[in-house]
Amino acid sequence: MNKKTVEDLIVSGKKVLLRVDFNVPMQDGVITDDNRIVQALPTIKYLLEEDGKVILFSHLGRIKTEADKPKNSLAPAAARLSELLGQPVKFVGVTRGKELEDAINHMKNGEVLMFENTRFEDLDGNKESKNDKDLGTYWASLGDVFVNDAFGTAHRAHASNVGIATHLDSAAGFLVEKELRYIGGAVDNPDRPFVAILGGAKVSDKIGVIENLLKKADKILIGGGMAYTFMKTLGYKIGTSICEEDKLPLAKELLEKAKGKIILPVDLVVSKEFSADAAHRVTNYSDIQDDEMGLDVGPNTIKLFEKELKGAKTVVWNGPLGVFEFEAFSHGTRSICEILSKMKNAKTIIGGGDSAAAAIQMGYEKDFTHISTGGGASLEYLEGKPLPGVEALADQEPCDCGSDCGCH
Ligand code: AMP
Repeated sequence: MNKKTVEDLIVSGKKVLLRVDFNVPMQDGVITDDNRIVQALPTIKYLLEEDGKVILFSHLGRIKTEADKPKNSLAPAAARLSELLGQPVKFVGVTRGKELEDAINHMKNGEVLMFENTRFEDLDGNKESKNDKDLGTYWASLGDVFVNDAFGTAHRAHASNVGIATHLDSAAGFLVEKELRYIGGAVDNPDRPFVAILGGAKVSDKIGVIENLLKKADKILIGGGMAYTFMKTLGYKIGTSICEEDKLPLAKELLEKAKGKIILPVDLVVSKEFSADAAHRVTNYSDIQDDEMGLDVGPNTIKLFEKELKGAKTVVWNGPLGVFEFEAFSHGTRSICEILSKMKNAKTIIGGGDSAAAAIQMGYEKDFTHISTGGGASLEYLEGKPLPGVEALADQEPCDCGSDCGCH
């Protein structure tokens, strides 16, 4: 990565603006998964050890009306962070103004402050999400340097990432650096064989990813809802399975381009209803009845995928292989977790989103080389697109040792 990292900045005694992604799931004000807060700890702890004044901010949910504010306050995230750090985190419940400015000006080295949800600014003309120039300038005026550790929003140009970075010396935090190293490394410089596993609901969400991975991966194993559009374009009956009719020509084109690289399911778990307790059966890919829909991959598909994964050195996975939210249709996704958890000689990377949630929920959190914290961001990175939140950060200064030493 040619961007500065947090270790390239001098932060002692400085007001460090740290954009984190604390967009954590909450129920009635209680955080149900603090993974994103935990993942931000290395950067926060480093800045504190280096005697910085750490000013944190994040978005949380979407803010369309005043009524969205209370349930999307970051106060519970500040409280959780305080528990994890074992030190006070001063929470300031506004996004601008004298109260915030005074609180920042009174900070001592090694203290942490967090201000309110950046998207509260969206109530006034989507200032945060549209990267309002004045808002970015104002937030930048609150600090001396800027660190972006919010990988989950790196694919968006918002005032709280791109806006601020245009005014201050800036760097990537450890989490952003780690995400880029693992996902970027896997796609651009993979140890081979490199196998990608793609699932999830729709082909349309992942066209860019499939196209990019067709150029890079040795095999692409496809499951989940998106498999049916591919199966239909090959002439198979898919019953009432999810299918994007308008993407049939594209699916055909991708299969032609793939020249055998794409592997589709050979059997499926089908049902007449989309529900948790629906009766279901396993059937061959060519035997789906008109009133049946495929909701998971079958056991022979798992065996086939396991065979294709054997010996792989790099595996990137995005999208569950079935409707994992229903126990009856979660076996494909669970089996992939199980297979990948045993591949100790491979780099195994989950590209965020629902497959990350499924792996964590199923207890495989520690068994992967990397589970991305960003769904949309990791998808765009897998597509090979630049991430505006990263692009806006300061470049590393060239080494002055005078040779091609690879210092950076
Ligand atoms: P995505 O966000 O694109 O990764 O899609 C995740 C969603 O795809 C999950 O909510 C799954 O329930 C859903 N999904 C996976 N397989 C199927 C399927 N065969 N039919 C319908 N939805 C599916």
